[in-house]
Amino acid sequence: MNAITHEILDTFSQIAAIPRCSGNEAAISHWLQQWAGDHGFEYQADSVGNVVIRIPAAAGYEQAPIVVIQGHTDMVGQKTPESKHDFKTDPIRLVHDGDWLKADQTTLGADNGIGVAMGLVLAKDPNLAHPPLELLFTVDEEVGMSGASALGPEFVRGRILLNIDSENIMAIGDNENDLSMIEYAGVGVAMGNAVDKVKEAADFITKSNAESGVAHAIRTYLNK
Ligand SMILES: [Zn+2]
Repeated sequence: MNAITHEILDTFSQIAAIPRCSGNEAAISHWLQQWAGDHGFEYQADSVGNVVIRIPAAAGYEQAPIVVIQGHTDMVGQKTPESKHDFKTDPIRLVHDGDWLKADQTTLGADNGIGVAMGLVLAKDPNLAHPPLELLFTVDEEVGMSGASALGPEFVRGRILLNIDSENIMAIGDNENDLSMIEYAGVGVAMGNAVDKVKEAADFITKSNAESGVAHAIRTYLNK
């Protein structure tokens, strides 16, 4: 596992330790504000618990347009009939199963905890060249979208927004080991040279490796 993946999973494990089902986001909102303060970033929270963290541009990119990176802090809480887990108070118990990260008898909350973790790790990477960023973490996406609906017009300044929820993630693959990823992503893409099973599971079949299929897929979806 590379260092960045490791850091994302480490950050995710801190997020997973905070009970945060929809409607119960006060603690995660507080944690995010604490995180921002600890890292010296300006931040703001609103009355429903949405948080924005403002990340200055990397040197030389100060004049670039602000990009908003948005995820949601809440998760769906479901568990097996025999589980004693209390979503109001208990941390999600993570289980490492080979290359898979799972939860013990409950939902994992990777939607959208992993997106929140990625945003935070991205923001504090000193080697990344990026424009000014606004990390926007909204509450209550899974139930009523009340967080996004409550957003004030001045809460974020950026006018370009990248939503990092799973529904909007594109995954591209060509072989059977890519199947689960392609099925999970909001937009699953098969390479033109992919095996039939991958093509059947995909939402879209792009060009082959030899014809720059990845670039074609990104361009096609960016233009939608
Ligand atoms: Zn989601």
